[in-house]
Amino acid sequence: MTSASHTTTVVDGLALARRIRQELTDAVARHVARGRRPPCLAVVVGDDPASQSYIKGKRRACTRLGMESVEHDLAPDTSEADVLELVGRLNGDDAVDGILTQLPLPKGIRPNHVAAAIDPAKDVDGLHPLNAGRLLAGEPCLAACTPLGIMQILEDQEIALEGANAVVIGRSILVGKPVSLMLQHANATVTMCHSRTRDLAGHCRRADVLVAAVGVPRLVQGDWIKPGAAVIDVGVSEVDGELVGDVDTEAAIGIASIVTPHRRGVGPMTITMLLRNTLTAYEERNSWQA
Ligand code: NAP
Repeated sequence: MTSASHTTTVVDGLALARRIRQELTDAVARHVARGRRPPCLAVVVGDDPASQSYIKGKRRACTRLGMESVEHDLAPDTSEADVLELVGRLNGDDAVDGILTQLPLPKGIRPNHVAAAIDPAKDVDGLHPLNAGRLLAGEPCLAACTPLGIMQILEDQEIALEGANAVVIGRSILVGKPVSLMLQHANATVTMCHSRTRDLAGHCRRADVLVAAVGVPRLVQGDWIKPGAAVIDVGVSEVDGELVGDVDTEAAIGIASIVTPHRRGVGPMTITMLLRNTLTAYEERNSWQA
């Protein structure tokens, strides 16, 4: 899409996701052709209705790639000890390559305790403290899927990161913190913003790369965006039954160089990176090359 001022690419995250999924499908097929079992993702999920639909999408994506997925549904009264026991069993099951816990878990179960119990070699969410530490140190690791997807989009769009001013709004362990580390490893100069940041708009206006991972509908206005900036909208909120992002996408068009839409943007890449992490875990655990 274009405007008089800047030509803005509205990124088709689904198209990129499909290209990468084809590569993953081919890799799985090569393993299976060598007589190996396909990779297997185990999903631990509570009874939250939104989780059920996310999980359905993830399972379908696994099947399409030729991977296996097994689901472990937790009853609302499941205790933390029960979940830790389940995770222990999945850790010890050689036929399971990746373990994903879909949040929210039933009441009283601490997600960080569950994450820490997962075998780091099967931690496809990249939330185990060992993987988080490796990311901090810039070492190879299984890293969080949404940040990996964001980095893939920036690479695919050939956004120059070296020396760029990158601003990340949001400091969650799932998105904001890991993506800020990845941007630093790519030699961007990173500013992290959050709910206590003063003059958020001013920080954003200096950003060559702006990542919004907040969950506040259309927080980022057009006049917060530096002309030519790459804008990644991670947020998903529901307003009057409609999904909206953290960025006013329409306002960004004509100002930004690229913008990811809240649909078909980062979301499909998050699932794709989960699949890629599962394949990586499978290959590394078994020392198998595709
Ligand atoms: P989160 O854990 O709730 O973190 C939100 C962050 O935003 C916090 O760091 C918070 O600051 C900051 N924040 C809140 N209000 C703010 C404001 N007015 N100004 C500046 N910063 C503000 O959320 P998350 O898990 O990172 O997810 C963020 C959004 O991305 C959500 O909408 C989520 O649904 C979406 N998401 C999408 C995908 C995808 O694949 N598309 C994946 C993951 C998440 P404090 O730390 O100070 O509280």
